[in-house]
Amino acid sequence: MATESANKPTLIDCNLLVAKALSRAGIDRMFGVVGIPVTSLANRAVALGIRFIAFHNEQSAGYAASAYGYLTGRPGVLLTVSGPGCVHGLAGLSNAAANAWPMVMISGSCDQNDFGRGDFQELDQIAAVKPFVKFSVKVKNVTEIPNAVFTVIDHAGSGRPGGCYLDIPADVLHQTVTESEANKLLDDAENSRKLDVIKDVDKKDIEKAISIIRKAERPLIVFGKGAAIARAEDEIKNFVERTGIPFLPTPMGKGLLPDTHELASTAARSLAIGKCDVAIVVGARLNWLLHFGEPPKWSKDVKFILVDIDEGEIELRKPCLGLIGDAKKVLQVLNKEIKDDPFCLGRTHPWIQDITNKVKDNVLRMESQLVKDLVPFNFLTPMRIIRDAIIGLGSPCPIVVSEGANTMDVGRSVLVQMEPRTRLDAGTWGTMGVGLGYCIAAAVASPDRLVVAVEGDSGFGFSAMEVETLVRYKLPVVVIVFNNGGVYGGDRRNSEDITGPYKDDPAPTSFVPGAAYHVLIEAFGGKGYLVGTPDELKAALTESFSARKPAVINVTIDPFAGAESGRMQHKN
Ligand code: ADP
Repeated sequence: MATESANKPTLIDCNLLVAKALSRAGIDRMFGVVGIPVTSLANRAVALGIRFIAFHNEQSAGYAASAYGYLTGRPGVLLTVSGPGCVHGLAGLSNAAANAWPMVMISGSCDQNDFGRGDFQELDQIAAVKPFVKFSVKVKNVTEIPNAVFTVIDHAGSGRPGGCYLDIPADVLHQTVTESEANKLLDDAENSRKLDVIKDVDKKDIEKAISIIRKAERPLIVFGKGAAIARAEDEIKNFVERTGIPFLPTPMGKGLLPDTHELASTAARSLAIGKCDVAIVVGARLNWLLHFGEPPKWSKDVKFILVDIDEGEIELRKPCLGLIGDAKKVLQVLNKEIKDDPFCLGRTHPWIQDITNKVKDNVLRMESQLVKDLVPFNFLTPMRIIRDAIIGLGSPCPIVVSEGANTMDVGRSVLVQMEPRTRLDAGTWGTMGVGLGYCIAAAVASPDRLVVAVEGDSGFGFSAMEVETLVRYKLPVVVIVFNNGGVYGGDRRNSEDITGPYKDDPAPTSFVPGAAYHVLIEAFGGKGYLVGTPDELKAALTESFSARKPAVINVTIDPFAGAESGRMQHKN
């Protein structure tokens, strides 16, 4: 970089200033789609050492940014063009909001002087993002950039994480400042950063919690994405093993403690939640995924102790006791207090025996189904083969990405999670189409891990073009597509429903039978496999897992296997 001389100050443009501010704020990865007016911004960021992953569609890039925020605990950054680019990016921003993941979307917008006159890609982007953000700002001048960048990043990660938005009009992107002015602006903004201070949990509340837990006859600890983002795995292990209390992870909480742990009660989920008298819920909302904490799934007398960083969540659920704070810190205090006066349920405790027996029964029943080699494939046979291949990899175990109806439901029960933050799925919103974006985020966030996606063909189709992105960036991602020819499994209509002028059209649930998804990735130089038998699948997994190169394994599934719409059938 040229140095500033007395006669001729070096000017830097807004694009470079944004990149510098992002870099100072610790951002080293960005996801997005370039075009007018943000192409130079992406190039400047790359020149400063920020890795920019260029996608085909902002929707997938946005899903990637949201998942990157979850996996790393630092906001994932999405860059989009104006108008439609911003609208496509809302998918990622809304997904971050729904899942409570830290993310920042930065969009270019039309020239300020032309706004309201029908400018190219004109949109009131601040209004468009409003339902999905914790905070948004539109800069009017280049000098506002450093402060705006730090503010959106800090807001996204503070308290309950979520999405924030920064709007930069095209005319601002073309403004310049001198290098010395830029440095001063960056220093001032950095020095005035107001980082969130998380309050310590109230000691009296900890004492109350311990007293409730001690009196419990059938306690259970439930943990979710909030515990994962807090990186509370060591504290949860300590708590569980010290007290002997069985645990139940939410779908993405899986892996904080290994699924194979002797106190894991996932395989006895109904018994555990139906019969527990005290539930310590750490970083998980009592929303639809946990049946709202209500009967008939939960006992009407269950006492909830909720640990959450968000006071509003405690107010909403009105638990028996709320412990407001960061999950890791709250559990540290809880563990310390328990240590002074220890207790442990022990293996012979009737509650532990009930759960252990139920787990054994259910695992045996499931294994007796899984062991069968059925051809044409149902969901269970290939899932067992994939499970065994993943287990065979040992540590570091791969990050598993899962979406679909049956594919995700079956995968959640069969695939084994051994390490924290190694499962990404449709999440709080049940979002379909997250697959390839999540794969790319996972590969970028954890370069030492393989990424294995297990997807329904419908889920895969939402973002299938991003297989080119996998190949372009040489990411170690193996995408396994359960291909049963459509949503749920192709045409399952009763004959009396097939009437009317368009009765000869394919069913709304149908795709082209036998679609050659494996050929798609070969168009870009990736590796494709078509498999329909256990031996073919095993061979494809062995080869692709050891190659650690982008691959798609197209698994032919019997279109009549599986339930109509997974475990949500009653709603369809
Ligand atoms: P899951 O889907 O796994 O059940 P949810 O997304 O429903 O999890 O809930 C996550 C909860 O964790 C949210 O209520 C959020 O406020 C909370 N949370 C986020 N970060 C933290 C943290 N560091 N410590 C404690 N709770 C957190």
